[in-house]
Amino acid sequence: MVKKQVPLTESELPVAAETLLALMHAQGEVARLREREQLFSSLLVSVNAVLWAFDWQTQQMIYVSPGYERIFGRSAGLLLADYNEWLDSIYPDDLDYAEQSLAQVLEKGAVEDREYRIIRADGEIRWLSDKCFISHQSDGVERTIVVGIAEDITEKKQLEGELQRLATTDVLTQSSNRRHFFDCAVAEFALAREGDTPMAFLLLDIDDFKMINDTYGHPEGDLVLQRIAQAGKAALRRGDLFGRIGGEEFAAVFPGCSPEMAKQIAERLQREIQRLSFTHGDKTYGVTVSQGLTNRNAEDGSLDAMFARSDAAMYQAKRQGKNQIVLA
Ligand code: GH3
Ligand code: MG
Ligand code: MG
Repeated sequence: MVKKQVPLTESELPVAAETLLALMHAQGEVARLREREQLFSSLLVSVNAVLWAFDWQTQQMIYVSPGYERIFGRSAGLLLADYNEWLDSIYPDDLDYAEQSLAQVLEKGAVEDREYRIIRADGEIRWLSDKCFISHQSDGVERTIVVGIAEDITEKKQLEGELQRLATTDVLTQSSNRRHFFDCAVAEFALAREGDTPMAFLLLDIDDFKMINDTYGHPEGDLVLQRIAQAGKAALRRGDLFGRIGGEEFAAVFPGCSPEMAKQIAERLQREIQRLSFTHGDKTYGVTVSQGLTNRNAEDGSLDAMFARSDAAMYQAKRQGKNQIVLA
């Protein structure tokens, strides 16, 4: 049956026009919203971060963006079903920190400096910066929703680590450089003084090193420096410090080490270095070192006092004929 078209009366006309305009406007709004949603979705997919929302009362994850599956290498469905899935993925050493810092959001409103590691399902460890914020919502019932953005900062962390290594390491010998060695040594001295525990300071200088350079060339001298550094590091115990503090000068700190033990370590190192054998062309040669060793005493107000004493002792070893240890 064909519906008969009735013309609109004059009074109905403006109402119809208004309705039509409202309809067109609504359609435009829907299109704009759809466009915005598409933009938002593609942003969420491409950004190297996870946006999440967590219901504090029910302890349930109520939203997680597509980045979750890529960064965590785990199923979003499992996470939405059980928040333990997120906790299980946190690196065990960082779990307490991650949980405590999340709880802080309740009193602070925002926690923006959380960084912790996760283990992906494939075993790979990744660093996250996981900022979180409180968002109170009341749709009838008052709800505390924590929203967050967890960004994958693994590459930034690796870069930071590499920069830190470059800033603290001597390139040639891969030992601590002078500045880093003394930074650590000053900190150890403060601890030893505070706890009134023993600590030894050792200075080591290669004998007649200039002659090695002059006879066999600078690259050969570099090789000797590397082997001496290896021997020095091999003599260390856990917690000891070792660094290259000058051209052919090394230093070590032995925290908590008795004077007798420090002397034994220095003597062992002296023997190890004497035993090293270098070959250049058809020539074989060895090297020796002079060492100045000192122990912390109650009058030492700073590390400088120990450094000065071991330096004087080392020069005395040089004057007395080199290849020996002098205690001060
Ligand atoms: P002494 O027994 O009195 O310590 O004499 P020495 O020859 O060891 O000491 P001196 O201070 O006269 O010479 C140190 C030399 O170390 C001079 C310098 O060219 C060399 N040197 C410093 N840094 C490096 C380096 O990185 N590589 C090499 N191959 N040589 C270096
Ligand atoms: Mg020297
Ligand atoms: Mg020297």
